[in-house]
Amino acid sequence: MFDNLSEKLDKAFHVLKGHGQITEINVAETLKEIRRALLDADVNFKIAKEFTNTVKEKALGQNVLTSLQPGQLMVKLVKDELTELMGGEAEGIDLSGDPSVILMSGLQGSGKTTFSGKLANYLKNKKTKKPLLVACDVYRPAAIDQLHIVGDQIGVEVYSDRDNNDPVAIAKAGISHAKSTGCNVVIIDTAGRLAVDEQMMTEISNIHKAIEPQETLFVVDSMTGQDAVNTAKAFNDVLNFDGVVLTKLDGDTRGGAAISIKSVVDKPIKFIGTGEKMEAIDVFHPSRMADRILG
Ligand code: GDP
Repeated sequence: MFDNLSEKLDKAFHVLKGHGQITEINVAETLKEIRRALLDADVNFKIAKEFTNTVKEKALGQNVLTSLQPGQLMVKLVKDELTELMGGEAEGIDLSGDPSVILMSGLQGSGKTTFSGKLANYLKNKKTKKPLLVACDVYRPAAIDQLHIVGDQIGVEVYSDRDNNDPVAIAKAGISHAKSTGCNVVIIDTAGRLAVDEQMMTEISNIHKAIEPQETLFVVDSMTGQDAVNTAKAFNDVLNFDGVVLTKLDGDTRGGAAISIKSVVDKPIKFIGTGEKMEAIDVFHPSRMADRILG
């Protein structure tokens, strides 16, 4: 995960970690390398620039030049700043409803269906939760099949209605079904497209307005970097979602989406997907991620 970024940041600190006199030039060079590493990770130019400016100010404020271990101090400053940029504290999801309704949004292929299954499984394992999965993709029969396969695999019921082509009606019927069968969490999987388009946005917005979910999660493929950030912005403008799910982190060597998405949409990353298996789900902890990135 984010191996390229970790390697480049490690190299950036190389000079400061060596012995001998540290000069302002060394610090400036390190900051330049950090900025370059962030840009290579597909972090937006403005965010990378602000990041290094903040680190620079803090480094000056803490007299990095005269400190005993300037390398370690810089690593700490970068780690703290990365944590802050990725959201500070971990944020959970709202499960206060009865049932709690969780709406999934995102493009096709982002990992929505897989994540819906992972989340259902994660909640089911908490014992106090009995989830229901609802299939609201009325365009691709294969998507309904896929959710049923996932449901069977984890032992969670899936509500679908292949004769109905109104996703709002299916979502509502799913929630009623949950109430009558004692399910206390409803996870609604929706249709995505390959790119943002008006019809998809209108549809997801209609579902959102009709069911008023406790949680609206935006699912996005981490490997798509700045595209992920732009897509997040488009969905957030329409849905004002509650949190982001970053999938496929296991294949992401760069990390740009994880680093910049929070500061662009001002919504926390709540979960990450780290593999295709149902168990490959984790709560996102900004500080742990920063620790991992900086080794
Ligand atoms: P949807 O179209 O948004 O519902 O996306 P899917 O759930 O069908 O996922 C698309 C592909 O990504 C599938 O092949 C999944 O197995 C794969 N996938 C989903 N999440 C992850 C993940 O966290 N890691 C990896 N490596 N693959 C994932």
